[in-house]
Amino acid sequence: MKSSELKKINTEVLELKSSPLYNYRVKNNYFPVIGEGSENAVIMLIGEAPGRNEAKTGKPFCGAAGKILDELLASITLSREDIYITNIVKDRPPENRDPSPEEIFAYGRFLDRQIDIIQPKIIATLGRYSMKYILKKFNLDSKIEPVGKAHGKTYTVEAFYGPIKVVALYHPCVALYNRKQMDTLKKDFKTLKKYA
Ligand code: URA
Repeated sequence: MKSSELKKINTEVLELKSSPLYNYRVKNNYFPVIGEGSENAVIMLIGEAPGRNEAKTGKPFCGAAGKILDELLASITLSREDIYITNIVKDRPPENRDPSPEEIFAYGRFLDRQIDIIQPKIIATLGRYSMKYILKKFNLDSKIEPVGKAHGKTYTVEAFYGPIKVVALYHPCVALYNRKQMDTLKKDFKTLKKYA
């Protein structure tokens, strides 16, 4: 049941000709990156958008940011099979630029459906776009602040299936540019473990 609903999302995104990123995907022989992990996951991780490696393989976080993510998950003894990992935007934006409001609008409804299908009890947002999207979605616009302030904070939101803890985290990419941020990320990931 869950897997057929998730598969439907796959098919729909694959054929999403109205997306501003559709032509770019086709021209480059890229794949959309829908998500990966357990359809019964308690924890859902939400990133921003696929990079080049992800678009080439169709798998989320399989490049440099993915290595950091694996290290962070290992630090709290979680593996990818225990959780579900996805992004707001399902196709790669050119040159790894930030996703545009149009792109977030085009793909947001698929993320909404993934949440409704999987029904996670904990959502970890990776980076500012994902944090903003989720807080807005659950009517917590007033809590939106720069991720530098929000990281490590937890918000309780109400979904139709019950409460969700939303944990705001830095995007793992920050540790690629500044290794010191790894300590902050590790500390914030411990919050996730607390709720798992
Ligand atoms: N960055 C993201 O936000 N998502 C990915 O899948 C890879 C890099």
